[in-house]
Amino acid sequence: MGCQFCSLPESRVWFEHGSVFVFKDAYPISPGHTLIVPKRHVSSLFELDEQERQDLFQALERAKNLLLTDLKPNGFNIGINDGVAAGQTVLHLHVHLIPRYIGDVADPRGGIRWIFPDKAKYWS
Ligand code: 5GP
Ligand code: ZN
Repeated sequence: MGCQFCSLPESRVWFEHGSVFVFKDAYPISPGHTLIVPKRHVSSLFELDEQERQDLFQALERAKNLLLTDLKPNGFNIGINDGVAAGQTVLHLHVHLIPRYIGDVADPRGGIRWIFPDKAKYWS
C-alpha cells in the first residue's frame, strides 16, 4: 500500500504553507484534531531540513490560531509519534495538533504522560 499522506486528496487539505500541508485527522480524538505534514515523504521530525522545520512550526501556529477562532478550545496537546516504537502508524511524519476543552476528560493533569498510565501521576 502507498503512503496515505503522499496521496492525500486535494479536498482533504485545509491549507498549505510552503513545504507543508495541514489537514484534519480522519479519525479525530477531539473536535478540530489536525495534522501538519511535510510535502516530502520523511518519517521522522529529525529528517527535516531547516526550511521544512520553519514551515512546519509556522503552519502549526496558523492552524492553532484558526482553531482558536473556529472552535475556541481551552488548550492543546501537540505531539509526534516518532518511530514505530513510539506508536507511529503512518510512517510519514505528522504533528498532531489536538485541541483540548475544559471538561473533555475528568482530570487532564499529566497530558502526554498518560502514554505510561502507571507513571503519569508524578504528583500523587
Ligand atoms: P500515528 O499513530 O501515526 O501518530 O497517527 C496516524 C494518524 O493519522 C491517526 O491520528 C489517524 O487518525 C490519521 N489518519 C490515518 N489515515 C488517514 C487518512 O487517510 N487521512 C487523514 N486525514 N488522517 C488519517
Ligand atoms: Zn508519504
